[in-house]
Amino acid sequence: MDLTAATLASPTLAGVALTLIHTGRAPTRSALTRQLGVTRATVGAVTGELRDLGLIEVDAGAGGGRQGRPSHRLLPSPAGPVALAAQVHPDGFAVALVGLGGTVVARRAVHGPVSADPARTFAPAAEAAAALLRASGRPCVGAAVAVPAAVTRPGGTAVRALYTGWPDGTPVRDLFAAELERQGVRGARGRALGCEAVNDVNALALGEHRQGAGRDATHLLVVSAEHRGVGGALVRDGALYAGSGGLAMEAGHVSVDPDGRPCRCGNRGCLNVEADAERLLDEAGGPVAADRPVLDQAVALLRAGYPGDSRVRAAADGCAARLGLALAGLINVLNPDRVLLGGMYRELLALAPARLRGAVASHSPWGVGAGVPVEGGTLADGGLIGAAELAWQPVLDNPALLRTA
Ligand SMILES: [Zn+2]
Repeated sequence: MDLTAATLASPTLAGVALTLIHTGRAPTRSALTRQLGVTRATVGAVTGELRDLGLIEVDAGAGGGRQGRPSHRLLPSPAGPVALAAQVHPDGFAVALVGLGGTVVARRAVHGPVSADPARTFAPAAEAAAALLRASGRPCVGAAVAVPAAVTRPGGTAVRALYTGWPDGTPVRDLFAAELERQGVRGARGRALGCEAVNDVNALALGEHRQGAGRDATHLLVVSAEHRGVGGALVRDGALYAGSGGLAMEAGHVSVDPDGRPCRCGNRGCLNVEADAERLLDEAGGPVAADRPVLDQAVALLRAGYPGDSRVRAAADGCAARLGLALAGLINVLNPDRVLLGGMYRELLALAPARLRGAVASHSPWGVGAGVPVEGGTLADGGLIGAAELAWQPVLDNPALLRTA
């Protein structure tokens, strides 16, 4: 599925209603009536259809409508369908079931080095996801896997997988789908399961836009220091900006020092190597323990050391300065109305907001960059939630898909 096409497709009225409920814009039937601009009778029919499909519950008990009249609350059904989301990274993987409204119903994370053989990576992730789904007893709307590599679209193949060693053109979507099928995972009513693959920071950006701190931004720029390296994404008018082949927004390879450290891409001084978790640990002298994800170690070191450890502070301030330089360039090129930071950068912003925003402003021509809000993402599992958005999308466009065999 092409997300851009899916988002631009004409959803059914029930699909528009479901999307409004899913994204928190219509928590009550009266709110949904206002948002849709249709009669109460029509909204009653639509919510009845969504209820009959097992997607929502209509709670007549509360809600606080106009003139003191209670308005029926629209809630995700506690037994309703879920999306199956997976996120693979160089230090392991996580899987989750994500319900309507971006709610993580169940989650499991496994730590361990990722295999350079993609099949050996996706088999345990699919097995863990299938176990969660079986335990939940809930139907599945679809699956999606987020990976630390650019992902072609259409095609679902990974390229530039610099941190996992997968060959260029690895068919990550098809591999994950095949492993899920081997595990016996089926879609609602026994149908074949739809499966998507997406870059991990693209997934994070989509999750934050739909369910987190990116809501209502028209041009949302997300830059995140993940488990290794740095990624970027742009959500424009609700859809991921993909470029001509799905490979846009490689923010990690923006050079912030032409004489800097060598990057795995062949260039020098990329943000990937000048301001990522490994660089912070390297400069701050933090131990790199094999039994703990690098990202977790970097975040823990920042939290513990930034207030009083001069070496940690110097390393963090250096990362903030280099990140600020890259952000100023991206802001100047893309003209976003909001910037969200993820992964280690979220911690960096929380600890040194003035330093990071000051670095952006000092490199911004005409001061434009200083006026763009730079905030931290708010989702604990943004990558998983964003991947789940892709899996949910066909049902959000047309909920009646759950009815047809
Ligand atoms: Zn690079």
